[in-house]
Amino acid sequence: MQDDTFSAKRPPSVGFVSLGCPKALVDSERILTQLKVEGYNVSASYEGADLIVVNTCGFIDSAVQESLDAIGEAMHANGKVIVTGCLGAKNGNEGKDMITKLHPKVLAVTGPHATEEVMQAVHIHLPKPHDPFIDLVPDHGVKLTPKHYAYLKISEGCNHRCTFCIIPSMRGDLVSRPIGEVIREAESLKKAGVKELLVVSQDTSAYGVDLKYRTDFVNGRPVKTQFQQLAEELGELGIWVRMHYVYPYPHVDRVVPLMAEGKILPYLDIPFQHSHPDVLKRMKRPASGERNIERIRAWRNTCPDITLRSTFITGFPGETEDEFKHLLDFIEEAQLDRVGVFAYSPVDGAVANALDNPVPEEVKEERRARLMALQEKISLSRNEAKLGKVMQVLVDETDEEGIVARSKADAPEIDGNVFIPMPENQTQQPKPGDFINVLIDDCDEHDLWGRIA
Ligand code: SF4
Repeated sequence: MQDDTFSAKRPPSVGFVSLGCPKALVDSERILTQLKVEGYNVSASYEGADLIVVNTCGFIDSAVQESLDAIGEAMHANGKVIVTGCLGAKNGNEGKDMITKLHPKVLAVTGPHATEEVMQAVHIHLPKPHDPFIDLVPDHGVKLTPKHYAYLKISEGCNHRCTFCIIPSMRGDLVSRPIGEVIREAESLKKAGVKELLVVSQDTSAYGVDLKYRTDFVNGRPVKTQFQQLAEELGELGIWVRMHYVYPYPHVDRVVPLMAEGKILPYLDIPFQHSHPDVLKRMKRPASGERNIERIRAWRNTCPDITLRSTFITGFPGETEDEFKHLLDFIEEAQLDRVGVFAYSPVDGAVANALDNPVPEEVKEERRARLMALQEKISLSRNEAKLGKVMQVLVDETDEEGIVARSKADAPEIDGNVFIPMPENQTQQPKPGDFINVLIDDCDEHDLWGRIA
């Protein structure tokens, strides 16, 4: 009898599987927040779930496979599945049709950034509970990251048409959120205890272009919806602010002084992709390697502590050995702190697949390995320069053995960590989310080791 009473009152429960990049994570957080607002129970497992939402990624083939596997697993475990995310936005046999062909019983398929559509599908197949406990949902919504850092998504889509990328065809042109809304969300995240904001989008430096930099209001003050103003406003919050996916536009230079002043973190995640002007042209990317070297020099003059992270593609169609050597010279000269290197992978639907002279697989990989070997030496020497220094770090995790933290130079999940032994004195033991000062005494090319200073 008690069980019946309990199940009659039990709110409907939605299982949630979140795959893909930080931008997809933000979409997941929005859907989870809305589910909570409406009184649904949400869980990260299938157990006890009345329905499952799978947020997919469709960027590269392995991500597509992972998404299809997750859908299959959810269908098998539960049978009531709604699919959202990038894979759902791909047309024809590559996306939506492939999902419905493989899993004809899926309840609905949407693209990314589709909280409303997902909620409509949820309402049809799992009606809203009558009396949602709205007051139980915190202002800042539901977060999937640890409590002390959060992703702040400022826009969706992209106006570029890089020939290796299909994101614009999946997510459309740039749509920026008005600055007032973004800053309100940032303030409420700070109030909820967030110590680090990671600003994400497909193209952070283009923020506001679509709105013609329209003026909006932040706490009653008129402020333009624009990248530099965004950095200035976020810089007033007094927490760590880290900029990701910054396209190398000239106006990025104007944000570097804010880093030197300590307003935002001295960290730029800026995907250059290549250095050779002809490869950049085939990629439909602006700027040239030479110009970027000059700018890196100027950034370091303004802000000597700046950490530069970038990504590069080896074996892009038509890349000659000379063009690749140009990239190696660029890497040698730029002395970037962190570098991700990808062998070109022909994503279905990308314009670059039709370019002449595809590079053989083994050459792409061999070039990737050469570039990585060079960069490892550079990353090691940049980390060695930190030995003997005291730096502020943010604690991510602790256990009896030690503390895992990150310095200003380390973004969560993609960069290195700082490992510190746990002090025996309990009063000195930090918790996740604490800032502590650490004396660095060892390193490799990725990580640092140190002790509490
Ligand atoms: S800027 Fe980024 S998201 Fe936009 S088309 Fe180029 S690679 Fe894709």
